[in-house]
Amino acid sequence: MVSEIIANALQHKRAAEALRLAKEAAEAASRAKSEFLANMSHEIRTPMNGIIGMTDLALDTGLSREQNDYLSVVRSSADALLHLINDILDLSKIEAGQLELDAVDFDLRATVETTVDTLTPKATEKGLDLYCHVHPDVPRLLHGDPGRLRQIVMNLLGNAIKFTDNGHVYVEIGTERDDGPDTVLLRGEVRDSGVGIPEDRFESIFESFTQADSSVSRRFGGTGLGLAITQTLLKMMDGDVSVESELGAGSTFSFHARLRAADEAPNDVELAELPDVSVLIVDASPINRRILH
Ligand code: ADP
Repeated sequence: MVSEIIANALQHKRAAEALRLAKEAAEAASRAKSEFLANMSHEIRTPMNGIIGMTDLALDTGLSREQNDYLSVVRSSADALLHLINDILDLSKIEAGQLELDAVDFDLRATVETTVDTLTPKATEKGLDLYCHVHPDVPRLLHGDPGRLRQIVMNLLGNAIKFTDNGHVYVEIGTERDDGPDTVLLRGEVRDSGVGIPEDRFESIFESFTQADSSVSRRFGGTGLGLAITQTLLKMMDGDVSVESELGAGSTFSFHARLRAADEAPNDVELAELPDVSVLIVDASPINRRILH
C-alpha cells in the first residue's frame, strides 16, 4: 500500500517535471520565432526601402522613355513585394499571438482621408469615381491604433478599386448611437460597382490565402491575405466585418470597430451655422450631391 502511494507520487513528480520541461521548450521556441520575425521584418524591409527609394531617385533623372518604362515596372513590383512581405509578417505575428494594437489619440478623419488620397491615383487611372464621406457625428479625436485602421481601410478600398472596372467606389464612416459613454462604435462601409462575389464565397474569402474565384483573382492579382488580416484586426478592436454582394453589380463590405473616446476632450466636430443661406450644388454625380448636402 505504502509502496503504491510512493510510486504514484513519483509518477506525478515525473509527469510534472516533463510538463515543466515541455512548457519551457515551447516558450523558448515561441521566443525564437518572434525574435526571428522581428529580425526578418527589419532585414527585409531595409533593402526594400533602399530599392524603392533609389528607384524613385533614378526616375527623377533624365531617362529615355524606355528606361523610364523599365524603372516604373521595378518600382511597382517593389511596392507589390513590400506589400506582400508586410502581409505575411502580419499573418505570422497574428499566428504567434504577437500582434499588438497601439493606443494613441488620433484624428480619424485625417487618417481616412489620407488613405483615400493614397489610392486616388489608382482609381483615377481606371476612370473610377471615388467618394469618401466621414459623417459629422464621428468625433474629431479618437483613441486607438491609427496605423491599423488605415490598413483596414486600405485593404477594403484597395480591393474595391482592384475589382471594379467601371463605375464608382465609395467609403462611408459614421458612428452607431447606442454605445457606452467612453467608447465610440464606428461603422464603416466600402461599396463598389465591381465584379461582385458569389454568395457561397461570402465567408471563405475571409480565410487566409482564399480568393473568391481564382480566374478572376488571377486577372486582378493578390494573395488572399488582406481580408483575413482585416478581420483579425477588427476582432481585436471588438468589431467585425461582413460582405453583401451581387455578381456583376458590386459589393459592400461593412465593418464595426469599437474605439475609446480620446483622452483629450472635448472634440466634437464643429459644424458651421449657416442659417438662411441658399447654396446651389452642381455636380453630375448623385453620390457627390448627397455628400455635399
Ligand atoms: P487578395 O485581394 O489579395 O486576393 P483579399 O483577402 O483581400 O486578398 O481578398 C480575398 C478575395 O476576396 C479576393 O481574391 C476576391 O476574390 C474577393 N474580394 C475581396 N474584395 C472584393 C471586392 N470588392 N469585389 C470583388 N471581390 C472581392
